[in-house]
Parts: sequence; structure tokens; C-alpha cells
Amino acid sequence: MARYTGAVCRLCRREGQKLFLKGDRCYTDKCALARRQYAPGQHGQGRKKNSEYGVQLRAKMMTRRYYGVLENQFYHYFELASKKPGKAGENLLAILESRLDNVVYRLGWASSRAEARQLVTHGHFTINGKRVDIPSYLTSVGEVVAIKEASLNSEKIKAVLEANASRPVPKWLDRAANNSAKVVAVAERSDIDLQVEETLIVELYSK
Ligand code: SF4
Repeated sequence: MARYTGAVCRLCRREGQKLFLKGDRCYTDKCALARRQYAPGQHGQGRKKNSEYGVQLRAKMMTRRYYGVLENQFYHYFELASKKPGKAGENLLAILESRLDNVVYRLGWASSRAEARQLVTHGHFTINGKRVDIPSYLTSVGEVVAIKEASLNSEKIKAVLEANASRPVPKWLDRAANNSAKVVAVAERSDIDLQVEETLIVELYSK
């Protein structure tokens, strides 16, 4: 399935939840969801029919859209999560959180996951001192993620760092003042602000 290229605010309105897809605007009162709290389209304000399958599908789509992951990759993460000990749904979210693009976003080094993906692809970050330009790279506990020395002079990076300096960093990431951070733990469910019942995704894929 191709990547969605339409108006991203429609996705938040469809899911009825802020997915933070548009960077700085998401934190202002210009947020489309704050102004129109109903699904987009002609029937957006109509009565919703929620079948069991429909609810499970919405949970999956919301999570996929939040992290900007395509179906095949998402399913691959589910398979990985199912093989790990513990709850598959929580494992799935922890895997998604460990993606490099998400880590960059969580550290406040990008205004959105889409921007983080672009900055990673452009080679602005290192892991344990080596350049990594793969947004789907799964970080591990103990790895040190850093902004490349040369990239600190980039106007784009400077602007992004300034704009997101006050955004809180989750406790599983230890951000140092020198624009590097260590992954100190696996993200727990309580660290993740996405309001989704991840067990619904497990139920959907277990059919
Ligand atoms: Fe979603 Fe951000 Fe658009 Fe608000 S501004 S609807 S949070 S993408």
C-alpha cells in the first residue's frame, strides 16, 4: 500500500485523536481537530456503526498512522512482538517507539515523525558514532543516538532544536546537553501517550 499523501489533519479527525502529524501546528489552537471534532467527509457527523471488526481496524489504522508505518512493515512488527515474552500489544508499541525516526521525534530533534524521517534519511544522526540513515532502524537499550557534529551548524537543525527544546523527553531516553542521548530502557506502555487499546490490534491479526 502506498504512503498517504493527502491532508494529514483528516487522519486525526478520522481517528478522533491528535496524532501529531503536522509539527508545531499540532500544539496550537490552529489544530484542525480542536476546531472540528468530527470525522471528515459528507457523512463525518453522522451516526457511526461500530462492528467488532471496525473497532479493531480503527485501532490498527490509528497506530499505523501515528507512527507513519505502512501495512507490511506494521505486520512485520506484530510478528516480532508476538515472539517476544510478555503482552504482544505492549511489545508492538515498544518496537514502534524504538524506531529511529520516533526516537529523534521523542528527543525533540524534529517537529513531527515525518520530519524526523526526512532528517534521518538526510544523514543527520549517528548511533554509537556511526551514521545511520534508515528511519526504521530499531534502537536498542544502551545505544547512543546523536546529532552529527557537522549537522549542528545546519540552519534547519538549529531551528528545529530551538522550536522543540521545551518538549518533554520520555524517561526511557536520557538526553544529554551535548545533543546526544542514550536509550536507557525499553518504552513501557505508560510512557506512550497514544490512546489506543493495543489488544484490539492483536485480536485483529489473530483472526
Ligand atoms: Fe492532527 Fe496536528 Fe492536524 Fe491537529 S494540527 S489535526 S494534531 S495533524
